[in-house]
Amino acid sequence: MGKRIVLLGPPGAGKGTLARQLADEIDVPHVATGDMLRAEVAEGTDLGLKAKQIMDSGGLVPDAIVVEMAVERLSRPDATDGWILDGFPRDVEQAIDLERQFSGAVPDITLYMGLDTDEIVRRITGRRVCPRGHVYHVDSNPPRTPGTCDEDGLELTQRDDDTKEVVAKRLQVYWEEIDPLVAHYDELGVLRRLDASGDAESVHARAIQLVSD
Ligand code: ADP
Ligand code: AMP
Repeated sequence: MGKRIVLLGPPGAGKGTLARQLADEIDVPHVATGDMLRAEVAEGTDLGLKAKQIMDSGGLVPDAIVVEMAVERLSRPDATDGWILDGFPRDVEQAIDLERQFSGAVPDITLYMGLDTDEIVRRITGRRVCPRGHVYHVDSNPPRTPGTCDEDGLELTQRDDDTKEVVAKRLQVYWEEIDPLVAHYDELGVLRRLDASGDAESVHARAIQLVSD
């Protein structure tokens, strides 16, 4: 089974949910550039301050910044045997930069998650997160006590960019970039389409089948 996996899909498709499960199972790091950027924002670094405005408006953080962050993360020892990329690459430039700067970064498999827009919006607007990154959904994955994280008891909030207005912009950006990115991975012969509808267990079962083929 290839252990270098890229998850492509719209915001809210369930990339993070699936990536966490797969990363546990095949024992590779889950590398999510969105999570890394939010950590920078939470720490109040210069990069975080710059990124926050862009993230809150639904745009993309400049390629150079994100690629440098990803390359640094993938160069650490725990990523030697593989990784699961979630939210990166976001466009063909990032994919090519990664391949250029980090030899061996061509994925073994790219799972392209497809989901209809109504369900994307339902998943994303119902998402609630805790400050340590645990993710819930108000209907499909609710915490035991509403508004409180099961794992650490911290208060759950909605991400600033998970509002209906910002989601519309994020989806627009996504649709502008995704076709060339999918074509890029198709040309490399690593693209597989994953139906992301249904509950998380069903999506996971389909994903396992695809990565094991
Ligand atoms: P992404 O990383 O693609 O932005 P997440 O994994 O954070 O997406 O999932 C978005 C929201 O949808 C979260 O609230 C999550 O709990 C929920 N979710 C994830 N997968 C499913 C699924 N298969 N069915 C229903 N809800 C899901
Ligand atoms: P995500 O957590 O993947 O939904 O990402 C949240 C936000 O972080 C995005 O809307 C972008 O503003 C930014 N971001 C995350 N990953 C990238 C990336 N690979 N390239 C550019 N911006 C990114």
